[in-house]
Amino acid sequence: MLESCSPQHPDRTLASFPDTEPEPVLRATADARRAQASWSAMPAPERAVVLAACAEGLAQEAADLIKLGVAEVGKPRAEMAAEVARGVAILRYYAEAALDPDGETYPAADGRSLVFARNRPRGVAGLVTPWNFPVAIPLWKAAPALAYGNAAVCKPAPAATAVALRLADLLGRYLPAGLFTVVTGGATAGSALVDAADAVSFTGSVAVGRQVVARAAARGVPVQAEMGGTNPSIVLPDANLLQAATTIAMAAMGYAGQKCTATSRVVVVGDPAPFVEALITAVEGLPVGDPSEDGVIVGPVISEAAREAVVEAAAAVRATGGQVLSGGAALDREGYYVAPTLVAGIDPGHRLAQEEVFGPFAVVLGATDLGEAVRIANAVPYGLAAAVFTSDLDWALMVAAQLEAGLVRVNAPTSGVDFFAPFGGMKASSYGPREQGKAARAFYTETQTVTVAPASS
Ligand code: NAD
Repeated sequence: MLESCSPQHPDRTLASFPDTEPEPVLRATADARRAQASWSAMPAPERAVVLAACAEGLAQEAADLIKLGVAEVGKPRAEMAAEVARGVAILRYYAEAALDPDGETYPAADGRSLVFARNRPRGVAGLVTPWNFPVAIPLWKAAPALAYGNAAVCKPAPAATAVALRLADLLGRYLPAGLFTVVTGGATAGSALVDAADAVSFTGSVAVGRQVVARAAARGVPVQAEMGGTNPSIVLPDANLLQAATTIAMAAMGYAGQKCTATSRVVVVGDPAPFVEALITAVEGLPVGDPSEDGVIVGPVISEAAREAVVEAAAAVRATGGQVLSGGAALDREGYYVAPTLVAGIDPGHRLAQEEVFGPFAVVLGATDLGEAVRIANAVPYGLAAAVFTSDLDWALMVAAQLEAGLVRVNAPTSGVDFFAPFGGMKASSYGPREQGKAARAFYTETQTVTVAPASS
Protein backbone atom coordinates (compact mmCIF):
# COMPACT_ATOMS: atom_id res chain seq x y z
CA MET A 1 0.00 0.00 0.00
CA LEU A 2 1.05 3.58 -0.64
CA GLU A 3 0.16 6.62 1.45
CA SER A 4 -0.41 10.28 0.84
CA CYS A 5 0.46 12.51 3.81
CA SER A 6 0.01 16.20 4.50
CA PRO A 7 3.18 18.22 3.85
CA GLN A 8 2.34 20.58 6.72
CA HIS A 9 1.57 17.69 9.11
CA PRO A 10 3.57 14.74 7.76
CA ASP A 11 2.12 12.39 10.42
CA ARG A 12 -1.37 12.95 9.03
CA THR A 13 -2.31 10.37 6.37
CA LEU A 14 -4.90 11.54 3.84
CA ALA A 15 -5.18 8.31 1.86
CA SER A 16 -3.83 4.72 1.84
CA PHE A 17 -4.19 3.04 -1.52
CA PRO A 18 -2.83 0.19 -3.61
CA ASP A 19 0.18 0.50 -5.87
CA THR A 20 -1.99 -0.92 -8.65
CA GLU A 21 -0.55 -3.77 -10.73
CA PRO A 22 -0.95 -3.80 -14.53
CA GLU A 23 -3.85 -6.31 -14.52
CA PRO A 24 -6.39 -4.08 -12.67
CA VAL A 25 -5.30 -1.13 -14.83
CA LEU A 26 -6.16 -3.20 -17.91
CA ARG A 27 -9.55 -4.04 -16.39
CA ALA A 28 -10.26 -0.34 -15.71
CA THR A 29 -9.35 0.45 -19.32
CA ALA A 30 -11.58 -2.36 -20.62
CA ASP A 31 -14.51 -1.09 -18.47
CA ALA A 32 -13.87 2.42 -19.80
CA ARG A 33 -13.89 1.16 -23.37
CA ARG A 34 -17.30 -0.49 -22.83
CA ALA A 35 -18.70 2.68 -21.25
CA GLN A 36 -17.28 4.77 -24.09
CA ALA A 37 -19.22 2.85 -26.74
CA SER A 38 -22.59 4.08 -25.42
CA TRP A 39 -21.26 7.48 -24.31
CA SER A 40 -20.02 8.33 -27.80
CA ALA A 41 -23.34 7.16 -29.27
CA MET A 42 -25.24 9.52 -26.95
CA PRO A 43 -26.31 12.73 -28.73
CA ALA A 44 -23.91 15.57 -27.95
CA PRO A 45 -26.64 17.75 -26.35
CA GLU A 46 -27.25 14.96 -23.82
CA ARG A 47 -23.54 14.60 -23.07
CA ALA A 48 -23.46 18.37 -22.55
CA VAL A 49 -26.21 18.12 -19.93
CA VAL A 50 -24.30 15.43 -18.04
CA LEU A 51 -21.07 17.48 -18.05
CA ALA A 52 -22.97 20.57 -16.87
CA ALA A 53 -24.35 18.48 -14.00
CA CYS A 54 -20.77 17.46 -13.12
CA ALA A 55 -19.85 21.17 -12.99
CA GLU A 56 -22.71 22.00 -10.64
CA GLY A 57 -21.95 18.93 -8.49
CA LEU A 58 -18.35 20.09 -8.17
CA ALA A 59 -19.47 23.62 -7.29
CA GLN A 60 -21.66 22.25 -4.50
CA GLU A 61 -18.83 20.17 -3.03
CA ALA A 62 -16.21 22.91 -3.47
CA ALA A 63 -15.70 23.64 0.24
CA ASP A 64 -14.84 20.00 1.04
CA LEU A 65 -12.54 19.60 -1.93
CA ILE A 66 -10.70 22.84 -1.10
CA LYS A 67 -10.11 21.63 2.45
CA LEU A 68 -8.86 18.26 1.23
CA GLY A 69 -6.57 19.86 -1.38
CA VAL A 70 -5.04 22.25 1.16
CA ALA A 71 -4.40 19.32 3.51
CA GLU A 72 -3.02 16.94 0.88
CA VAL A 73 -0.74 19.09 -1.28
CA GLY A 74 -0.20 22.10 1.01
CA LYS A 75 -1.63 24.62 -1.45
CA PRO A 76 -2.60 27.92 0.23
CA ARG A 77 -6.36 28.05 0.70
CA ALA A 78 -7.08 31.02 -1.57
CA GLU A 79 -5.15 29.33 -4.41
CA MET A 80 -6.86 26.00 -3.81
CA ALA A 81 -10.25 27.74 -3.86
CA ALA A 82 -9.32 29.40 -7.16
CA GLU A 83 -8.25 26.03 -8.54
CA VAL A 84 -11.54 24.34 -7.65
CA ALA A 85 -13.43 27.30 -9.16
CA ARG A 86 -11.33 26.83 -12.28
CA GLY A 87 -12.29 23.14 -12.29
CA VAL A 88 -15.97 24.11 -12.26
CA ALA A 89 -15.38 26.62 -15.08
CA ILE A 90 -13.51 24.01 -17.14
CA LEU A 91 -16.41 21.55 -16.87
CA ARG A 92 -18.93 24.27 -17.81
CA TYR A 93 -16.77 25.33 -20.74
CA TYR A 94 -16.45 21.81 -22.17
CA ALA A 95 -20.15 21.10 -21.58
CA GLU A 96 -20.74 23.94 -24.05
CA ALA A 97 -17.83 22.95 -26.30
CA ALA A 98 -19.49 19.54 -26.82
CA LEU A 99 -21.97 21.47 -29.02
CA ASP A 100 -19.38 23.28 -31.14
CA PRO A 101 -19.22 22.46 -34.86
CA ASP A 102 -17.59 19.03 -35.08
CA GLY A 103 -16.25 19.20 -38.59
CA GLU A 104 -15.92 21.14 -41.82
CA THR A 105 -17.16 20.85 -45.37
CA TYR A 106 -14.86 21.13 -48.40
CA PRO A 107 -15.37 21.93 -52.07
CA ALA A 108 -15.85 18.75 -54.09
CA ALA A 109 -13.41 18.00 -56.91
CA ASP A 110 -16.32 17.04 -59.17
CA GLY A 111 -18.41 20.05 -58.16
CA ARG A 112 -21.32 17.79 -57.11
CA SER A 113 -20.26 15.56 -54.23
CA LEU A 114 -20.49 16.41 -50.55
CA VAL A 115 -17.07 16.33 -48.88
CA PHE A 116 -16.85 16.74 -45.14
CA ALA A 117 -14.31 16.05 -42.42
CA ARG A 118 -15.63 15.15 -39.00
CA ASN A 119 -13.95 14.61 -35.64
CA ARG A 120 -14.43 11.26 -33.96
CA PRO A 121 -13.43 10.30 -30.41
CA ARG A 122 -10.28 8.26 -30.00
CA GLY A 123 -11.62 5.85 -27.37
CA VAL A 124 -10.06 5.69 -23.90
CA ALA A 125 -7.82 8.59 -22.89
CA GLY A 126 -5.10 7.64 -20.39
CA LEU A 127 -4.32 10.64 -18.17
CA VAL A 128 -1.13 10.61 -16.10
CA THR A 129 -1.07 13.63 -13.81
CA PRO A 130 1.20 15.37 -11.26
CA TRP A 131 0.35 16.38 -7.68
CA ASN A 132 0.64 20.17 -7.87
CA PHE A 133 -2.74 20.96 -9.54
CA PRO A 134 -4.73 18.01 -8.19
CA VAL A 135 -8.10 19.28 -9.45
CA ALA A 136 -7.35 21.48 -12.47
CA ILE A 137 -4.98 19.19 -14.37
CA PRO A 138 -7.09 15.99 -14.21
CA LEU A 139 -10.08 18.11 -15.23
CA TRP A 140 -8.47 20.06 -18.03
CA LYS A 141 -7.64 16.68 -19.58
CA ALA A 142 -10.78 14.70 -18.62
CA ALA A 143 -13.36 17.39 -19.50
CA PRO A 144 -12.42 17.72 -23.20
CA ALA A 145 -11.85 13.95 -23.46
CA LEU A 146 -15.40 13.31 -22.21
CA ALA A 147 -16.99 16.23 -24.08
CA TYR A 148 -15.76 14.87 -27.41
CA GLY A 149 -17.02 11.35 -26.69
CA ASN A 150 -14.09 9.55 -25.07
CA ALA A 151 -13.78 7.73 -21.76
CA ALA A 152 -10.90 8.62 -19.42
CA VAL A 153 -8.78 6.72 -16.92
CA CYS A 154 -6.62 8.92 -14.70
CA LYS A 155 -3.47 7.86 -12.85
CA PRO A 156 -2.79 10.70 -10.42
CA ALA A 157 0.50 11.27 -8.61
CA PRO A 158 0.57 9.34 -5.33
CA ALA A 159 0.86 12.63 -3.39
CA ALA A 160 -2.50 13.84 -4.77
CA THR A 161 -4.47 10.61 -4.59
CA ALA A 162 -7.04 11.59 -1.94
CA VAL A 163 -8.19 14.55 -4.07
CA ALA A 164 -8.28 12.43 -7.25
CA LEU A 165 -10.39 9.73 -5.59
CA ARG A 166 -12.80 12.36 -4.25
CA LEU A 167 -13.06 13.90 -7.71
CA ALA A 168 -13.79 10.51 -9.31
CA ASP A 169 -16.43 9.80 -6.66
CA LEU A 170 -18.06 13.17 -7.29
CA LEU A 171 -18.10 12.94 -11.09
CA GLY A 172 -19.19 9.31 -10.84
CA ARG A 173 -22.53 10.49 -9.44
CA TYR A 174 -23.36 12.00 -12.84
CA LEU A 175 -21.34 10.02 -15.40
CA PRO A 176 -22.10 6.47 -16.58
CA ALA A 177 -20.23 3.78 -14.60
CA GLY A 178 -16.65 3.24 -15.73
CA LEU A 179 -16.51 6.31 -17.98
CA PHE A 180 -14.13 8.27 -15.74
CA THR A 181 -12.08 6.27 -13.25
CA VAL A 182 -8.95 6.72 -11.19
CA VAL A 183 -6.31 4.05 -10.82
CA THR A 184 -3.92 4.63 -7.94
CA GLY A 185 -0.20 3.97 -7.75
CA GLY A 186 3.11 5.06 -9.18
CA ALA A 187 5.26 4.19 -12.18
CA THR A 188 3.91 0.63 -12.60
CA ALA A 189 0.29 1.78 -12.82
CA GLY A 190 1.28 4.77 -14.98
CA SER A 191 3.18 2.57 -17.44
CA ALA A 192 0.32 0.06 -17.59
CA LEU A 193 -2.09 2.85 -18.45
CA VAL A 194 0.25 4.15 -21.17
CA ASP A 195 0.32 0.58 -22.55
CA ALA A 196 -3.48 0.27 -22.66
CA ALA A 197 -4.97 3.68 -23.55
CA ASP A 198 -5.94 4.86 -27.05
CA ALA A 199 -4.44 8.32 -26.40
CA VAL A 200 -2.09 9.40 -23.62
CA SER A 201 -1.97 12.83 -21.99
CA PHE A 202 0.82 13.32 -19.48
CA THR A 203 1.79 16.21 -17.22
CA GLY A 204 4.80 15.98 -14.93
CA SER A 205 8.58 16.04 -14.96
CA VAL A 206 10.73 15.96 -18.09
CA ALA A 207 12.44 12.72 -17.05
CA VAL A 208 9.17 10.79 -16.75
CA GLY A 209 7.50 12.60 -19.65
CA ARG A 210 10.20 11.45 -22.07
CA GLN A 211 9.67 7.82 -21.05
CA VAL A 212 5.89 8.14 -21.42
CA VAL A 213 6.22 9.72 -24.87
CA ALA A 214 8.60 6.98 -26.07
CA ARG A 215 6.38 4.21 -24.69
CA ALA A 216 3.17 5.56 -26.22
CA ALA A 217 4.85 6.37 -29.54
CA ALA A 218 6.22 2.81 -29.72
CA ARG A 219 2.58 1.61 -29.63
CA GLY A 220 1.62 4.18 -32.24
CA VAL A 221 -0.93 5.96 -30.06
CA PRO A 222 -1.15 9.75 -29.90
CA VAL A 223 0.63 11.27 -26.93
CA GLN A 224 1.06 14.74 -25.49
CA ALA A 225 3.31 15.66 -22.59
CA GLU A 226 3.49 18.90 -20.63
CA MET A 227 6.63 19.00 -18.55
CA GLY A 228 8.83 21.35 -16.58
CA GLY A 229 10.56 24.63 -17.26
CA THR A 230 13.06 27.15 -15.90
CA ASN A 231 10.90 30.13 -16.71
CA PRO A 232 12.52 33.56 -17.08
CA SER A 233 11.16 36.98 -16.16
CA ILE A 234 13.04 39.80 -17.92
CA VAL A 235 12.99 43.20 -16.23
CA LEU A 236 13.80 46.22 -18.42
CA PRO A 237 14.99 49.52 -16.92
CA ASP A 238 11.74 51.30 -17.86
CA ALA A 239 9.53 48.79 -15.98
CA ASN A 240 7.44 49.83 -13.02
CA LEU A 241 10.02 48.32 -10.66
CA LEU A 242 7.83 48.00 -7.58
CA GLN A 243 5.01 46.36 -9.47
CA ALA A 244 7.44 44.06 -11.29
CA ALA A 245 9.07 43.07 -8.00
CA THR A 246 5.73 42.21 -6.35
CA THR A 247 4.55 40.26 -9.38
CA ILE A 248 7.79 38.31 -9.79
CA ALA A 249 8.03 37.53 -6.06
CA MET A 250 4.55 35.95 -6.26
CA ALA A 251 5.33 34.13 -9.52
CA ALA A 252 8.55 32.67 -8.08
CA MET A 253 7.50 31.86 -4.53
CA GLY A 254 3.69 31.55 -4.46
CA TYR A 255 2.64 27.99 -3.57
CA ALA A 256 6.30 27.56 -2.61
CA GLY A 257 7.34 27.80 -6.28
CA GLN A 258 5.68 24.48 -7.13
CA LYS A 259 4.12 25.44 -10.45
CA CYS A 260 5.47 24.36 -13.81
CA THR A 261 5.12 28.02 -14.84
CA ALA A 262 6.80 29.52 -11.74
CA THR A 263 9.55 32.10 -12.41
CA SER A 264 12.91 30.56 -11.58
CA ARG A 265 15.21 33.03 -13.39
CA VAL A 266 14.99 36.80 -13.10
CA VAL A 267 17.01 38.57 -15.80
CA VAL A 268 17.61 42.24 -14.95
CA VAL A 269 18.75 44.56 -17.75
CA GLY A 270 21.13 47.40 -16.76
CA ASP A 271 21.97 48.34 -13.17
CA PRO A 272 20.36 45.53 -11.14
CA ALA A 273 20.64 47.20 -7.71
CA PRO A 274 17.32 49.13 -7.45
CA PHE A 275 15.24 46.25 -8.76
CA VAL A 276 17.00 43.56 -6.74
CA GLU A 277 16.46 45.58 -3.57
CA ALA A 278 12.74 45.82 -4.35
CA LEU A 279 12.60 42.09 -5.17
CA ILE A 280 14.24 41.08 -1.88
CA THR A 281 11.74 43.27 0.01
CA ALA A 282 8.83 41.74 -1.90
CA VAL A 283 10.04 38.16 -1.34
CA GLU A 284 10.64 38.75 2.36
CA GLY A 285 7.18 40.31 2.67
CA LEU A 286 5.38 37.17 1.46
CA PRO A 287 3.41 35.54 4.27
CA VAL A 288 4.84 32.06 4.95
CA GLY A 289 2.87 29.62 7.06
CA ASP A 290 0.20 26.98 7.38
CA PRO A 291 -1.62 26.94 4.02
CA SER A 292 -5.00 26.60 5.72
CA GLU A 293 -4.57 30.02 7.37
CA ASP A 294 -5.94 33.19 5.78
CA GLY A 295 -3.49 35.27 3.77
CA VAL A 296 -0.70 32.69 3.54
CA ILE A 297 1.08 32.74 0.17
CA VAL A 298 3.95 30.32 0.80
CA GLY A 299 3.16 27.00 2.46
CA PRO A 300 5.38 23.92 2.74
CA VAL A 301 6.93 22.05 -0.17
CA ILE A 302 5.55 18.60 -0.96
CA SER A 303 8.18 16.40 0.71
CA GLU A 304 11.32 16.28 2.77
CA ALA A 305 13.34 15.62 -0.40
CA ALA A 306 11.86 18.75 -2.01
CA ARG A 307 12.83 20.81 1.04
CA GLU A 308 16.37 19.39 0.98
CA ALA A 309 16.66 20.23 -2.72
CA VAL A 310 16.15 23.94 -1.94
CA VAL A 311 18.54 23.93 1.02
CA GLU A 312 21.18 22.09 -1.03
CA ALA A 313 20.72 24.48 -3.96
CA ALA A 314 21.42 27.45 -1.67
CA ALA A 315 24.51 25.69 -0.29
CA ALA A 316 25.74 24.95 -3.83
CA VAL A 317 25.36 28.63 -4.76
CA ARG A 318 27.46 29.67 -1.76
CA ALA A 319 30.04 26.99 -2.57
CA THR A 320 30.52 28.36 -6.09
CA GLY A 321 31.01 31.93 -4.86
CA GLY A 322 27.43 33.13 -5.43
CA GLN A 323 25.26 34.97 -2.93
CA VAL A 324 22.08 33.92 -1.16
CA LEU A 325 20.13 37.18 -1.14
CA SER A 326 17.29 35.82 0.96
CA GLY A 327 16.28 32.55 2.62
CA GLY A 328 18.31 29.42 1.98
CA ALA A 329 17.34 27.43 5.07
CA ALA A 330 14.59 25.09 6.27
CA LEU A 331 12.18 26.54 8.82
CA ASP A 332 12.26 25.14 12.32
CA ARG A 333 8.65 23.94 12.56
CA GLU A 334 6.55 20.86 11.85
CA GLY A 335 6.15 20.26 8.10
CA TYR A 336 8.33 20.67 5.03
CA TYR A 337 8.80 24.42 5.17
CA VAL A 338 11.74 26.22 3.60
CA ALA A 339 12.30 29.98 3.38
CA PRO A 340 11.71 31.58 -0.04
CA THR A 341 15.21 31.61 -1.49
CA LEU A 342 16.64 34.18 -3.87
CA VAL A 343 20.21 33.80 -5.12
CA ALA A 344 22.59 35.73 -7.39
CA GLY A 345 26.18 35.68 -8.59
CA ILE A 346 26.07 32.42 -10.57
CA ASP A 347 26.62 31.99 -14.26
CA PRO A 348 23.53 31.56 -16.52
CA GLY A 349 25.03 28.18 -17.50
CA HIS A 350 25.20 26.97 -13.87
CA ARG A 351 23.05 23.86 -13.36
CA LEU A 352 20.86 25.77 -10.88
CA ALA A 353 20.06 28.34 -13.57
CA GLN A 354 19.39 25.57 -16.09
CA GLU A 355 17.42 22.88 -14.23
CA GLU A 356 14.14 23.04 -12.35
CA VAL A 357 14.51 22.98 -8.54
CA PHE A 358 10.71 22.93 -8.13
CA GLY A 359 10.56 24.85 -4.88
CA PRO A 360 10.67 28.47 -3.68
CA PHE A 361 14.00 29.14 -5.40
CA ALA A 362 14.91 31.77 -7.99
CA VAL A 363 18.17 33.01 -9.49
CA VAL A 364 18.84 36.68 -10.34
CA LEU A 365 20.95 37.13 -13.49
CA GLY A 366 22.28 40.37 -15.00
CA ALA A 367 22.26 41.48 -18.65
CA THR A 368 23.84 44.57 -20.18
CA ASP A 369 21.15 45.02 -22.83
CA LEU A 370 17.93 43.61 -24.19
CA GLY A 371 19.67 41.34 -26.69
CA GLU A 372 21.76 39.70 -23.98
CA ALA A 373 18.67 39.30 -21.78
CA VAL A 374 16.84 37.42 -24.53
CA ARG A 375 19.89 35.24 -25.20
CA ILE A 376 20.09 34.33 -21.50
CA ALA A 377 16.33 33.71 -21.32
CA ASN A 378 16.50 31.33 -24.28
CA ALA A 379 19.74 29.56 -23.31
CA VAL A 380 18.07 26.66 -21.49
CA PRO A 381 16.65 23.38 -22.82
CA TYR A 382 13.11 24.41 -21.83
CA GLY A 383 10.53 26.87 -23.11
CA LEU A 384 7.30 26.78 -21.13
CA ALA A 385 6.56 30.33 -19.89
CA ALA A 386 8.40 33.66 -19.98
CA ALA A 387 7.57 37.19 -18.88
CA VAL A 388 8.86 40.64 -19.77
CA PHE A 389 8.35 43.75 -17.67
CA THR A 390 8.48 47.09 -19.50
CA SER A 391 6.41 50.20 -20.19
CA ASP A 392 7.35 50.19 -23.87
CA LEU A 393 4.97 48.26 -26.14
CA ASP A 394 7.49 48.07 -29.00
CA TRP A 395 10.04 46.40 -26.74
CA ALA A 396 7.40 44.12 -25.27
CA LEU A 397 6.30 42.87 -28.68
CA MET A 398 9.87 42.56 -29.95
CA VAL A 399 10.94 40.49 -26.93
CA ALA A 400 7.78 38.38 -27.08
CA ALA A 401 8.57 37.45 -30.67
CA GLN A 402 12.14 36.45 -29.77
CA LEU A 403 11.39 34.41 -26.65
CA GLU A 404 11.41 30.63 -27.10
CA ALA A 405 8.43 29.98 -24.84
CA GLY A 406 4.96 28.62 -25.41
CA LEU A 407 3.45 31.25 -23.10
CA VAL A 408 4.69 34.85 -23.07
CA ARG A 409 3.32 37.31 -20.54
CA VAL A 410 3.96 41.07 -20.55
CA ASN A 411 3.88 42.81 -17.14
CA ALA A 412 2.21 39.69 -15.77
CA PRO A 413 3.42 36.65 -13.81
CA THR A 414 4.80 33.68 -15.73
CA SER A 415 2.45 31.57 -13.62
CA GLY A 416 -0.92 32.69 -15.01
CA VAL A 417 -2.90 30.28 -17.19
CA ASP A 418 -6.28 30.75 -18.91
CA PHE A 419 -8.16 27.47 -19.32
CA PHE A 420 -9.82 28.70 -22.54
CA ALA A 421 -6.57 29.60 -24.37
CA PRO A 422 -4.02 27.14 -25.84
CA PHE A 423 -1.53 25.98 -23.21
CA GLY A 424 1.86 24.36 -23.69
CA GLY A 425 5.57 24.91 -24.06
CA MET A 426 8.36 24.87 -26.63
CA LYS A 427 11.58 22.82 -26.74
CA ALA A 428 11.95 20.20 -23.96
CA SER A 429 8.97 21.53 -21.99
CA SER A 430 6.31 19.94 -24.18
CA TYR A 431 5.61 17.25 -26.69
CA GLY A 432 2.59 17.02 -28.95
CA PRO A 433 -0.40 19.29 -29.47
CA ARG A 434 -1.47 22.06 -27.08
CA GLU A 435 -3.91 21.52 -24.22
CA GLN A 436 -6.95 23.50 -23.07
CA GLY A 437 -9.45 25.71 -24.84
CA LYS A 438 -10.40 24.74 -28.36
CA ALA A 439 -6.90 23.33 -28.92
CA ALA A 440 -7.84 20.26 -26.86
CA ARG A 441 -10.18 18.96 -29.55
CA ALA A 442 -7.27 18.18 -31.89
CA PHE A 443 -5.81 15.78 -29.36
CA TYR A 444 -8.93 14.00 -28.15
CA THR A 445 -10.43 13.40 -31.60
CA GLU A 446 -9.27 12.09 -34.95
CA THR A 447 -10.45 13.33 -38.29
CA GLN A 448 -12.40 11.28 -40.80
CA THR A 449 -12.91 12.74 -44.29
CA VAL A 450 -16.07 11.56 -46.01
CA THR A 451 -16.92 12.01 -49.70
CA VAL A 452 -20.52 11.39 -50.80
CA ALA A 453 -21.06 11.31 -54.56
CA PRO A 454 -24.51 11.20 -56.13
CA ALA A 455 -25.90 7.64 -56.41
CA SER A 456 -26.67 8.16 -60.11
CA SER A 457 -25.24 10.70 -62.44
P1 NAD B 1 6.43 13.20 -12.00
O1 NAD B 1 6.98 13.25 -13.38
O2 NAD B 1 7.27 12.62 -10.94
O3 NAD B 1 5.08 12.33 -12.01
C1 NAD B 1 4.02 12.65 -12.89
C2 NAD B 1 3.12 11.42 -13.00
O4 NAD B 1 3.80 10.38 -13.69
C3 NAD B 1 2.70 10.83 -11.66
O5 NAD B 1 1.36 10.42 -11.75
C4 NAD B 1 3.64 9.67 -11.51
O6 NAD B 1 3.18 8.67 -10.62
C5 NAD B 1 3.69 9.16 -12.93
N1 NAD B 1 4.85 8.32 -13.28
C6 NAD B 1 6.05 8.27 -12.67
N2 NAD B 1 6.88 7.42 -13.34
C7 NAD B 1 6.15 6.94 -14.40
C8 NAD B 1 6.45 6.06 -15.48
N3 NAD B 1 7.66 5.48 -15.60
N4 NAD B 1 5.49 5.81 -16.39
C9 NAD B 1 4.27 6.41 -16.31
N5 NAD B 1 3.94 7.27 -15.32
C10 NAD B 1 4.87 7.52 -14.37
O7 NAD B 1 5.97 14.68 -11.64
P2 NAD B 1 5.39 15.27 -10.28
O8 NAD B 1 6.48 15.28 -9.24
O9 NAD B 1 4.13 14.60 -9.92
O10 NAD B 1 5.04 16.79 -10.69
C11 NAD B 1 5.98 17.81 -10.73
C12 NAD B 1 6.48 18.04 -12.14
O11 NAD B 1 5.38 18.28 -13.00
C13 NAD B 1 7.37 19.26 -12.29
O12 NAD B 1 8.47 18.92 -13.10
C14 NAD B 1 6.49 20.29 -12.99
O13 NAD B 1 7.19 21.25 -13.73
C15 NAD B 1 5.64 19.42 -13.83
N6 NAD B 1 4.38 20.07 -14.19
C16 NAD B 1 4.21 20.50 -15.49
C17 NAD B 1 3.03 21.15 -15.85
C18 NAD B 1 2.81 21.62 -17.27
O14 NAD B 1 1.65 21.78 -17.65
N7 NAD B 1 3.84 21.85 -18.06
C19 NAD B 1 2.04 21.37 -14.90
C20 NAD B 1 2.24 20.93 -13.61
C21 NAD B 1 3.42 20.26 -13.26
